[in-house]
Amino acid sequence: MRIVVTGAAGFLGSHLVDRLLGQGHEVIGVDSMITGAAENLQHLKDNTNFHFIQADVTKYIAVSGPVHRVYHFASPASPKDFHRFPVHILKVGALGTLNALGLSKAKNARLLLSSTSEVYGDPEVHPQAEGYWGHVNPIGERSMYDEAKRFAEALTMSYHNQNHVDTRIVRIFNTYGPRMRLNDGRVLPNFVRAALNHEPIPIHGDGSQTRSFCYVDDLLEGINRLMESNVTEPVNIGNPEELTILEFAQEIIELTKSKSTVERKPLPKDDPVRRRPDITRAKTLLNWEPQVHRREGLIRTIEDFRARMK
Ligand code: UDP
Repeated sequence: MRIVVTGAAGFLGSHLVDRLLGQGHEVIGVDSMITGAAENLQHLKDNTNFHFIQADVTKYIAVSGPVHRVYHFASPASPKDFHRFPVHILKVGALGTLNALGLSKAKNARLLLSSTSEVYGDPEVHPQAEGYWGHVNPIGERSMYDEAKRFAEALTMSYHNQNHVDTRIVRIFNTYGPRMRLNDGRVLPNFVRAALNHEPIPIHGDGSQTRSFCYVDDLLEGINRLMESNVTEPVNIGNPEELTILEFAQEIIELTKSKSTVERKPLPKDDPVRRRPDITRAKTLLNWEPQVHRREGLIRTIEDFRARMK
């Protein structure tokens, strides 16, 4: 197939491109390079099945020839980006998704929207199943991302219902792995960098908030299965193994054999108290569940960070 991946130079996008090329597809990667990294695609420069288009999806997505699948992964996504690019994030979720859907409609291609657990906001229901509508502050610190993705889901379902575009929606929970930006600002890069430098680990608040971390390969296996399934309602893909941020710090200190201690930092506003996916739908409809244990995934990720920090 000929497959378009928006956000191809990002952490998830670039791993997805590798997976699709490995399956023998032709891939057209699109990225504005606002948060993407050229290094993530460097190894593909001589691959004739891969084409790269530098473009901002909020303007227009021009692709010539047939397209069978569109994986719409473009968006700045870390809380640090929320402060740097709030308006652009809203444009990417709204106009970027509109253009990706327009492309899919024009090419009669199937589109998969990468949505997020952030549509659940600071959840009042635990764990979060797809039937939960969420608890989002529309004008809060994370609203540009949360609301953009909620709008993107609404737009995707509307194109599905009104224009008969074949669509899929994945709600991605915290994911980690090699190629995450070193200074991305998210918890894993911050903790691993500090641990490898034997510097204090910055814990926001008392570290009792929880997250559930999925290894990138597991996530993409689930997403690929969803794309090739006939499931049009949203599906959570994530690892339900939940732990506190303090426990996560301790695990990283142990695995890096670091001398770091933890230091307290203020808890950002609207930081979700707990987050864990209910993956019943993915298990039942896609026969998917994560395979990589956190220890194993963390060891691989720490090795990648160690190499890039040199
Ligand atoms: N966090 C932290 N120290 C950091 C970065 C993040 O304690 O240096 C916390 C953050 O406040 C949140 C959790 O770790 O409670 C996960 O944060 P991340 O930015 O990775 O993503 P989120 O799941 O909040 O979108």
